[in-house]
Amino acid sequence: MNRRYRKTIIAGNWKMNKTPAETKEFIAQLKPHAARAKWCETVLCVPYIDLPAAVKAAKNTRVFIAAQNMHHAESGAYTGEVSGPMLCSLGVKYVVIGHSERRQYFGETDEIVAQKVKAALSCGLRPIVCVGESMAQREKNLTLDHVRMQIKTIFFGVDPKDVKKIVVAYEPIWAIGTGKTATAEQADEVGRAIRECIREIYGARHARSVTILYGGSMNPQNAGELLAMPDVDGGLIGGASLDWEKFVDVMESANQ
Ligand code: PEP
Repeated sequence: MNRRYRKTIIAGNWKMNKTPAETKEFIAQLKPHAARAKWCETVLCVPYIDLPAAVKAAKNTRVFIAAQNMHHAESGAYTGEVSGPMLCSLGVKYVVIGHSERRQYFGETDEIVAQKVKAALSCGLRPIVCVGESMAQREKNLTLDHVRMQIKTIFFGVDPKDVKKIVVAYEPIWAIGTGKTATAEQADEVGRAIRECIREIYGARHARSVTILYGGSMNPQNAGELLAMPDVDGGLIGGASLDWEKFVDVMESANQ
């Protein structure tokens, strides 16, 4: 983490879990801890149906609410989809884009992800955009090339003034929901490569302002070590974010 130049963010990705009533209860428990956690911004990425309850429960707190996906069009004949302006109208501040589960089960490519990132920025949402390699790519030593290519595609055409609004989540696919975590050195190496790639396009000032999260089986036991690395500015936490006490423990780990 480097709090001088960028925000530390601890984000929980609930995936397809929790009802509005459970959301309200979770945020009530989280609220006093988030109020004390001045060292990080707390974000909850909740299912669409929980968004109104989450925004209401998080009003006047230091907890920000994110959607887990959005469509790139503003409106139109896209049955079952939700647009950025719709999310904004609810008071949502962040949106996860290109999670590996969206890529794996719903065919999202880097090009689609890039379109969604621009659509999010244009309506004032902060994208949390996910990148990361498969185990096969890591074993073939292709991790850095793959992630660099993803970053170049996703940032292509982004206005320099918007660069710092983008949060990048480095999520090695093999570490998501598997209990296998990247080592702190692996997470930092890829975080550094991501920042270097942004620096090549936009220059050092923009690159150092971007928050880069690590995601992949982060939990209270391993968070401290990961978050101590210079290019790991926070976490995107799946499984361990479903339990408010575990999530608070990860937030505490960011206080160093
Ligand atoms: C995720 O869903 O982005 C994630 C990192 O999940 P988990 O922490 O369960 O691996």
